Amino acid sequence: MQQSSHITGKVILAAAGPGDPELVTLKTVRYLQQADVVLADRLVSEELLQQHVRATAEVVYVGKQCSRGSSTPQETINQLLVEYAQQGKLVVRLKGGDVSIFSNVLDELEVLVQNNIPYEIVPGVTAALGAAAYAGIPLTARGYTTAVRFLTYYKSDVLPDAYWKELAQTDDTLVFYMSSETLEGIVTQLRKNNISADKLLAVVEQATTPLQHVHITNLYEYETSLKGKQFISPSLVIIGRVVALHGQFAWLQNSTSGEHYFKPLAKLVSAIPDSVKTAKVKKNVSRA
Ligand code: SAH
Repeated sequence: MQQSSHITGKVILAAAGPGDPELVTLKTVRYLQQADVVLADRLVSEELLQQHVRATAEVVYVGKQCSRGSSTPQETINQLLVEYAQQGKLVVRLKGGDVSIFSNVLDELEVLVQNNIPYEIVPGVTAALGAAAYAGIPLTARGYTTAVRFLTYYKSDVLPDAYWKELAQTDDTLVFYMSSETLEGIVTQLRKNNISADKLLAVVEQATTPLQHVHITNLYEYETSLKGKQFISPSLVIIGRVVALHGQFAWLQNSTSGEHYFKPLAKLVSAIPDSVKTAKVKKNVSRA
């Protein structure tokens, strides 16, 4: 067995929640307090790190700056995870929202397994649940729908017509991650497939933060309401009859500041150490 005899470290793949630093589990907080190293995504509240991470711990920022900005290559993140764990450290890999939803956790799990590094996965509040709660939109409200789907639609995605037809016809609530820039495409496709006019669309900017802003429109009035709008990242799209409930149950004022809640974690970031550049990371995955 290679290397396993001297590994004493561990990697905790932990959820940071969607923004509000109180939307984390006690388990994540405990691990943050014990961590030797924290590898943090961009969509992680700075307050969360300031409140719970020890002053002696190393915080390495491995997130994207913004949708068009630079990001740490996954290969480097993998190397950091392995290198720090092989040094015997308790490493917390802190991910925005939940650990598993639309994240690169699979890549990291594969690397951890291949390098015999012990790990735990600590779940958390995914953006859909945070945004729905803080916008007063019960995602599966009785009488409105019986299911919710978590989806994504990238610019480059080419989805078959049959898929759009099904999405337009279903009564399930649809939640789109990473899709505010492709909103027009989503609206066009759903309308083309005759989505019912009583289903509304919400875009929730910076959900659960003090800068949250909820935009609501009827899909057939999109041209006069939201078309061409640049949404502040991160934004989440919710479509369905339940969106109307926001009018009745919203409990937060919309922020009008236009500021960004998630900033590059410059103050807390330490340089990627030279040692990781030479780390021997096994990564040999073959997928069908
Ligand atoms: N693992 C994360 C999702 C990462 S993908 C989770 O479980 O929430 C990143 C996308 O999540 C963003 O493009 C956005 O669509 C959504 N997102 C994350 N945090 C958000 C927030 N505070 N407000 C709105 N959307 C958010």
